[in-house]
Amino acid sequence: MQETLTCARCGRRMTRRRRWRDRPDTVRYCSDACRNRRIGQSDRALEAAIVSLLESRSASATICPSEAVRVVYPELPGSELRRHMEAARQAARRLIAAGSLEMLQRGHVVAPSTARGPIRLRLKRTPPEA
Ligand SMILES: [Zn+2]
Repeated sequence: MQETLTCARCGRRMTRRRRWRDRPDTVRYCSDACRNRRIGQSDRALEAAIVSLLESRSASATICPSEAVRVVYPELPGSELRRHMEAARQAARRLIAAGSLEMLQRGHVVAPSTARGPIRLRLKRTPPEA
């Protein structure tokens, strides 16, 4: 059984609850808010933008989620980008949950569920062969 559950919408870790005990695999969302905000085209576009921005750079390069927002909404004035930042962070957390990305603050990998403030994203490095 998988011990760590991640919300399919916001990508945050979910605390195990008693009512999940029987069928934890059926629980996909952390809250009604997340359940009601299904992932749409723009969310998938943000995920794709994050990956393609990182893949076009060196392996150790990092990006700010706002760069992905800029790719998906090229027409948007800078002052409006903010509105999509949480969606970009959620897209990043989903990618992290899928194992393809990591989140950094001041050069250190941080927990995506609890990080506050500015973050950077980096492709997850494959661990060195043992
Ligand atoms: Zn959620």
